[in-house]
Amino acid sequence: MSCFEPSAQMEPRAPGVIPIELKNGARVKGNDIAPQGVYLPNYNVLTPHMRSPEYVQMSTAAAITLGIMKGRMYRTSCTRCLNLLLTYPEGCRANCAYCGLARHREAERDYADRNFIRVDWPAVPLGQAIDIVAHDGAASPFHRMCISMITHPRSDEDTRTVLKAWTDRIDPATIPVSILSNPTTMTREDVKSLRDLGADIFTVALDAATPELFDRTRGKGVQSPHTWAKYWEILLAAREIFGPQKFGAHIIVGMGETESDVLHLVQRLVDLGGHSHMFCFFPEKGSLMDHVPATPREQWRRVQLARYLIDYRGARVESMRFDEHGRVRDYGVAQSELETIVGEGIAFRTSGCPGKFRDDVSACDRPYGDSPPSNIASFPFQPNGNDLRKIRRQLRESAAD
Ligand code: SF4
Repeated sequence: MSCFEPSAQMEPRAPGVIPIELKNGARVKGNDIAPQGVYLPNYNVLTPHMRSPEYVQMSTAAAITLGIMKGRMYRTSCTRCLNLLLTYPEGCRANCAYCGLARHREAERDYADRNFIRVDWPAVPLGQAIDIVAHDGAASPFHRMCISMITHPRSDEDTRTVLKAWTDRIDPATIPVSILSNPTTMTREDVKSLRDLGADIFTVALDAATPELFDRTRGKGVQSPHTWAKYWEILLAAREIFGPQKFGAHIIVGMGETESDVLHLVQRLVDLGGHSHMFCFFPEKGSLMDHVPATPREQWRRVQLARYLIDYRGARVESMRFDEHGRVRDYGVAQSELETIVGEGIAFRTSGCPGKFRDDVSACDRPYGDSPPSNIASFPFQPNGNDLRKIRRQLRESAAD
């Protein structure tokens, strides 16, 4: 079986036409239901009118860890990152093809009810979330907080307000803050003001590994406002303002790029002094790419391993060998070293900004954002012996391919 997904197979659907009466969160604003504290996504009640900075959404895993939602997670009990997502009835005004929050869903589902990276995102009063974390102090399970901006005219100002409300109560040295930015609405001054307000790490969700894929999945191809050039402008500004090891980019693997494409991008980021945070493409229900296949595991494992070698073990993409489809055929490191690194298992864990354990172990370990628990792509915990046997099998399949 070919492990390389040709670009054409990953073509997004065209977005449909939204009736004018459903645009811009009109349903939620028209009903104007006052929120009553925590809101768990529920398609049987009218969605309350909630707005940042008073309200934020958070992943199901973060809500369970914070104790505002009941639930259990497969093989793990908490997430180390409290990810806060800005929320507005108008939602994100971009239309990224792989994203559950995208604008084309306005007719079908209110913003606060949309699934995103495979889970629901409860809405919580910001003050309540901060109270809980401030009360827990150094005993908080969270190693990091992250503000996820979206494409909305108020996003920059509200991000500053959320950050300030947090740092007023919680020492950023105890729980540092990352910003998952939205470059499209940002200036260099906005980046600087976030650093001045105490943000620790600044990331840019490039998501697509090449300019062409970027345009197809989150630019003109899907009537979305983002451009590759603007994302790089803000990424390079963050490099200067936040400094080495304090900036990075998100990349989704398997949207039609080659392994060589994505690993050259990883190398470029490392050479600039930053990091890559990498996710496996999964067809999000309701997105414009919900009909295309998830990234084959063997392709994902190769890229995951090679990215870890470049990001944390000093390997270089120029020393790696690729076949005619751009697939990794040699990692450019000694077999014994490769065996040791595979055996450590860290390369296969969820990637993201670091927590308190070690630099190459991410705080951002939200579980099952890029795969179902039955076939884990990014491990939200240390892989055990059985997991490693499966990973080795997947890597061997790739070698025999
Ligand atoms: S900008 Fe971010 S949140 Fe908005 S549609 Fe694109 S990926 Fe989703």
